[in-house]
Amino acid sequence: MKRERLDKVLANMGFGTRKEVKQLVKQGLIQVDGETVQDPGMHVLPEEQEISVEGESIQFKRWIYVMMNKPPGFISATEDARHKTVVDLLPYEWAIKVHPVGRLDIDTEGLLLLTNDGQLSHNLLSPKKKVDKEYFARISGRVTAQHVEEFARGVKLDDDFTTLPARLEIIQSGEISEIKVTIMEGKFHQVKRMFAAFGLEVIYLKRLRMGPLLLDETLDLGEFRELTEEELTALR
Ligand code: URA
Repeated sequence: MKRERLDKVLANMGFGTRKEVKQLVKQGLIQVDGETVQDPGMHVLPEEQEISVEGESIQFKRWIYVMMNKPPGFISATEDARHKTVVDLLPYEWAIKVHPVGRLDIDTEGLLLLTNDGQLSHNLLSPKKKVDKEYFARISGRVTAQHVEEFARGVKLDDDFTTLPARLEIIQSGEISEIKVTIMEGKFHQVKRMFAAFGLEVIYLKRLRMGPLLLDETLDLGEFRELTEEELTALR
């Protein structure tokens, strides 16, 4: 692991410019392993040493795993010229490191994992691994047992791609239907296109689960938390 200048590390984390960080040092507000720092240029190992600013310990973790309840109106990307992105919702020190694992449409809500662990991300997204994804949706139109059968056979999309068998569960059928659907792939707009294949429109979509990872329903839209050890173990 690389030693880095303390003022650079803290400036990168958003504690101000290097000049401002030097000021904090001068005021005796920064400690490393319990010792008040005298030299802002001292070299530290951010992931191993305990660094605190104004008495608050800062956590430098190499691997970050964050579950978010994605709100509508945010793009699942790290940057976008026109829209706010999901990483804009995160604290700076996480935002500069993570990427979303897969994409939810701008109007889709629910479970989104963000991490800087490329290997885990790759495993979860690899078509070979067939990680299933479960969604709740409201559909404009009547969803019937016939649709359940069609989904179970796999649905031919508008580009002639036929999906793997999908589990469709009707919660309520009517002019507006409520359903749960579990799919095995992650094609662009997949759930919307599967219903569109039967002339039905998805008017609300929320991801509930990705493989073993369930959306923590105590998270409000836009809220997030780190994964627990158990969740992480289950995902790996
Ligand atoms: N399927 C969709 O159509 N949209 C999503 O955001 C996710 C799955």
